[in-house]
Amino acid sequence: MSKIAFIGLGNMGGGMAANLAKAGHDVTAFDLSEDSLLRAEARGASRAASAREAVAGAEAIVTMLPAGKHVREVYESSVIGHAPASAILMDCSTIDVATAREEIEKAAAAGYAMVDAPVSGGIAAAEAGSLTFMVGGTDAAFERARPFLEQMGKAVIHAGDAGAGQAAKICNNMLLGATMVATCEAFAMAKKLGLNLQTFYDISSKASGQSWSMTSYCPVPGVGPETPADRNYDGGFAAALMLKDLRLAMEAAQSVDAYTPMGAEAETLYARFAESLGGGSKDFSAIIRMIDDSWEAPAT
Ligand code: NAD
Repeated sequence: MSKIAFIGLGNMGGGMAANLAKAGHDVTAFDLSEDSLLRAEARGASRAASAREAVAGAEAIVTMLPAGKHVREVYESSVIGHAPASAILMDCSTIDVATAREEIEKAAAAGYAMVDAPVSGGIAAAEAGSLTFMVGGTDAAFERARPFLEQMGKAVIHAGDAGAGQAAKICNNMLLGATMVATCEAFAMAKKLGLNLQTFYDISSKASGQSWSMTSYCPVPGVGPETPADRNYDGGFAAALMLKDLRLAMEAAQSVDAYTPMGAEAETLYARFAESLGGGSKDFSAIIRMIDDSWEAPAT
């Protein structure tokens, strides 16, 4: 069993750190939030007073932070040059590809093995230990990270070199955002054309319009398997996080001059829904209410 430092114990990191502790590791946790630290302690971790203290003597370091600027800050001020050079560094946050590559390069220059390992799956998968990890880094770094990631996930896939995990994540989520919007449009139009929505689902889910957004995550309540649509769009994957990922995708597209008109449109629509209409905390499939005109902004 290993001594692991875990930094960033929010919605996702809390469950992930608990799974590492449950697997028998000695987990030292650090977060800026006292509540997160108390919860981590109650779930088997010991607390550190700072990120530097957490990484001292650690064999493995996992970070699960909001965005690239937090990852840069934590690695540059507290991890690189402070953790033992033999530690394997794993950043599981969803961040921009450029920052992921830069931090892995800086870590490598200081003698550390590091991977970017963003996840697919939300808070429930983090709790259940059934996340999918998309990993970027050298073969050797991947092999060192894999056993730890396997204790928090059901699939650990080597996507390629540094930054490839983030690249795979945002390409996937750009596709997801666009297919969700398209699926919502199709259901909203089917309704206006007088089709029974269950009947349309039965047809399209077995025809060429089928997608994960339709058959695993149907945005229409009462149609298809149980989804956040059946719980008033609460829980699930927040529209604000989908917007974050679409913005990262557009930034990455611009950096390599990729033509992504559908991704750009999805970003515009999610910005309108999550920010202008106040739907950011709802599941991302709730955008169907904006598309079929039945959205009412939550009372403030
Ligand atoms: P969160 O905001 O709940 O947790 C982030 C934690 O990081 C917070 O507890 C915060 O206090 C802590 N933090 C911030 N700066 C810090 C610092 N300098 N030092 C120590 N701790 C610091 O976010 P989350 O929902 O857990 O998401 C984490 C990452 O996972 C994000 O990049 C997100 O995009 C990604 N992600 C989230 C989901 C989801 O469903 N929530 C799904 C997939 C990926």
